[in-house]
Amino acid sequence: MPIRRLDPTTINRIAAGEVIERPAAAVKELVENALDAGARRIGVTIEGGGIGRIEVTDDGHGIPEAELPLAIERHATSKLTDEALVRIATLGFRGEALPSIGAAGRLTVTSRPAGQDSAARIVVDGGAVREVEPVAGPVGTCVTVEDLFHATPARRKFLRSAGAEAGACADAVRHLALAAPAVGFSLTIDGAASFDLPPQDRRERVAAIYGRADAEKLLEIEAVREEVALRGFISPASLTRAAARHQHMVVNGRPVRDPLLRMALRLAYRERIPAGRHPLAALWLEIPAEMLDVNVHPAKAELRFATPDAVRSLMIGAVQRALATPADLAAAPSVSMPRTSWAASSPMPRYPQAESRAARGFAEAELRGLDLPPARVAPEVLPESRPDYPLGTPIAQVFDTYILAQSGDGTLVLVDQHAAHERLTEIRLRAERDSGAIPAQALLAPSVVELPAEDIARLLGAAERLAGLGLEIEAFGPGAVLVRAVPAALAKADPAALARDVADTLAESGTATALEAKLDAVLIRMACHRSVRAGRRLAFAEMEALLRAMETTPLAQTCPHGRPTVLRLSRGDLERMFGRAG
Ligand code: ADP
Ligand code: MG
Repeated sequence: MPIRRLDPTTINRIAAGEVIERPAAAVKELVENALDAGARRIGVTIEGGGIGRIEVTDDGHGIPEAELPLAIERHATSKLTDEALVRIATLGFRGEALPSIGAAGRLTVTSRPAGQDSAARIVVDGGAVREVEPVAGPVGTCVTVEDLFHATPARRKFLRSAGAEAGACADAVRHLALAAPAVGFSLTIDGAASFDLPPQDRRERVAAIYGRADAEKLLEIEAVREEVALRGFISPASLTRAAARHQHMVVNGRPVRDPLLRMALRLAYRERIPAGRHPLAALWLEIPAEMLDVNVHPAKAELRFATPDAVRSLMIGAVQRALATPADLAAAPSVSMPRTSWAASSPMPRYPQAESRAARGFAEAELRGLDLPPARVAPEVLPESRPDYPLGTPIAQVFDTYILAQSGDGTLVLVDQHAAHERLTEIRLRAERDSGAIPAQALLAPSVVELPAEDIARLLGAAERLAGLGLEIEAFGPGAVLVRAVPAALAKADPAALARDVADTLAESGTATALEAKLDAVLIRMACHRSVRAGRRLAFAEMEALLRAMETTPLAQTCPHGRPTVLRLSRGDLERMFGRAG
């Protein structure tokens, strides 16, 4: 085949694959256009997961009738002067979104600038442009997208269920609403109002997006170094979620999912929160435009920083300072640990623990609620080493995380306390489920849990099956669910945290995953909920009880995620490592 130039429709469909990979990406582009147009109020409507219909209405400066054909043309933008690619102050600049959407679905742009007598409309369907026609309409712009991906069926195959896509659209709108708190935002999904927020300040917007209860617990951070400033709100180590989708970063007003910023946040919390948990964060970074390249990725979600190390250390420093405020230090454990001198001489860097007293009390209550065999020794008395215990008797706890034990045959045993306990709980829940249903314990006072509409839909959609796992959830008004019962094994868990985590777990796995598989993930997630955390000091009796329970539970020696819960070093291993034996 000879070389030929591709026609514009094909070019736009190719671009659509990059810019508009799913309905949420179209929603993001349209809302960003509205923000660039100086809108004070933006309304978003989603139907059928955004595949059926997306509508974004704004009261911004509009598009003059004569420019409508240009607006939907590729590489046509009002936001960039030719020389300005180094200083980008608008969210858009590539002139790609509208033509890409118009190539993949049916795009209708209706707009009226102030001073123009009436509105005008242009339609592009699968790349075919229709004539501009006058219509009635208010000042501002309304963009609708229907039948997204009807012209690019290959893409359509990769979409998840309407519910999952609607959830992703809502996440995108929430992120944008945090990026622009001074703009009023409303979101309606399949006819139901998800939220309707007036113009707010950052703090109020954060409370509206995260819910009052969680927002009250957030820590405020601020760090300024030279011309770079980081401000916002993060959760204390005691408040975490099962998914990272509650982390929102905004750089120079642009909502981003930048890997460098996410990684920095992760590092800042490392050793403070269990693996697999994620803090909440709403962070705004202001950085001089010339120190930032936003033109890395067609969807503009990733960035390149001129001084990545400086940005990283600013973030880690600011977060760690907030997590180690005097209030948190005062709540640090005062219990002395067996063999304290060992811990004191430990070369591992340790940060002050930032868990609240309440959180620690909760973990202790959880452990006491364990149906482990009764401890055979009084606390703080070194038990005798008995040869018939394969995992040996505990000698010490190190890093508040690992139990060190010596078995009768002289093997040194190391147990990861969190992983081991999580595994025991999971095995018990599984056994209960397999023998019918997991026993539920009704709550004396059913717990009202406020959640975003999509999470409520996810929970209620799976309610019957969740009941089989011991978690009984009912609808409760527009913005909340009622938790009536929790699995008996988790009687001491916080029902609200449990419901949120289950909703996150249901959201994480797409429809490709069958409900059965999702419920399995839910079960593992629930097991984590009552597991004694890493970072909590254990009494000898507790260590002993954990080891004995592990010995009588098959499969207890790997955690639900497949990591080992136990490591063994024989006398021979030690001798080889010390060069005593060949
Ligand atoms: P970009 O945002 O990168 O410029 P788009 O394809 O998203 O490219 O939009 C093309 C142009 O259409 C914009 O530059 C802008 O002039 C105009 N436009 C799009 N949406 C709106 C809107 N909601 N209000 C006013 N103008 C808009
Ligand atoms: Mg744009």
